Amino acid sequence: MRNVYFDNNATTQPAPEVVEAMQPFFAELWGNPSSMHHFGGQVAPHMEAARAKVAALLHAEPSEIVFTGCGTESDNMAIRGAAEALGRGARVITTRVEHPAVLGPCRRLREEGHDVVELGVDASGQLNLDELRAELARGPALVTIMWANNETGVIFPMDRIAAMTREAGAVLHTDAVQAAGKVPIDVRDTPVDMLSLAGHKLHAPKGIGALYVRKGTRLNTFMLGGHQEHGRRGGTENVPYIVGLGRACELAAATLSEERTRVAALRDRLEKGLLASCPDASVNGDRVNRLPNTTNMSFQYIEGESILYHLSDIGVAASSGSACTSGSLEPSHVIRAMGVPFTAAHGSIRFSLSRYNTGEDVDFVVARLPEIVQRLRALSPFV
Ligand code: PLP
Repeated sequence: MRNVYFDNNATTQPAPEVVEAMQPFFAELWGNPSSMHHFGGQVAPHMEAARAKVAALLHAEPSEIVFTGCGTESDNMAIRGAAEALGRGARVITTRVEHPAVLGPCRRLREEGHDVVELGVDASGQLNLDELRAELARGPALVTIMWANNETGVIFPMDRIAAMTREAGAVLHTDAVQAAGKVPIDVRDTPVDMLSLAGHKLHAPKGIGALYVRKGTRLNTFMLGGHQEHGRRGGTENVPYIVGLGRACELAAATLSEERTRVAALRDRLEKGLLASCPDASVNGDRVNRLPNTTNMSFQYIEGESILYHLSDIGVAASSGSACTSGSLEPSHVIRAMGVPFTAAHGSIRFSLSRYNTGEDVDFVVARLPEIVQRLRALSPFV
């Protein structure tokens, strides 16, 4: 059976170069990087080299990188830490299409008495920046707005958001878990205060993330413990995974401009092929300001889950925007926020590609999916 992996926004295959770089840190180089003796002394420089590589991907200073356990931890650390540092009076401004790793801590802050505003999006998944400006004018705030959406790939205009936030004197965090390594990020030009990323979305393993914290940003410590990470995150560092993240960022930086073009061409070929051969198919979200690897497509009148099931049968992995809860298939909060009609929302599928995909992968799906769609429609009560 053919194996086509088009679910890279869920997780990516660890790069062989990353796995190789990690190996020595499970075997001979296992010391605690905080130790004064030579076991620690041998390890600490490798951790600092990895920090410099993560920083380089973002054009940040190494001292501005804090290693965490995952993207979710980075988001929680930034949002809770900054909200606490700002105090109860500070408002929190976010969007309705954030990942649960952002919406969760924001909603907890609301329960704890913070005024939390969730900005809506239009049919293309874009924000109305006038609404953001109006909210910023209402007083001190923590703003947390994602760089790119995990379901649609839609990229928010972070340059303008950062400029507006800075002008208003607010603090800005961005969840760049899907953007890092796929599109250029330069924190010197785009003045975000904090930025989250996760290793497993850019060909490092799961269980490692990072938070960029601009020098001078006030952030209460979230994970209380030892003095690791300059007191910003207690806990003995996960050295093998930190080294892996460093190598993954180094590879991403080296290949970004070339891969961005190549992967976007594959994604466009997939999208064009499916739109041409499947009637009543459409693309959800802004098709211009979008991650190069992602397309979210709706196939009217059928369930996304049924499509996924049949795709899986022929060896193709993708994902749907629906969350299967207690037997009812609800379209995702992102698709609902965009006002996608019911009959299309239920048939939404996300294809997310990576550097390991080929033209043959694309051609296989374009050749096989139309027949699956046709078969499912023949059974649909909505047609
Ligand atoms: N933020 C976004 C936009 C994501 O897509 C994800 C993962 O899907 C996360 C945060 C959470 O990352 P992690 O799974 O590393 O905790």
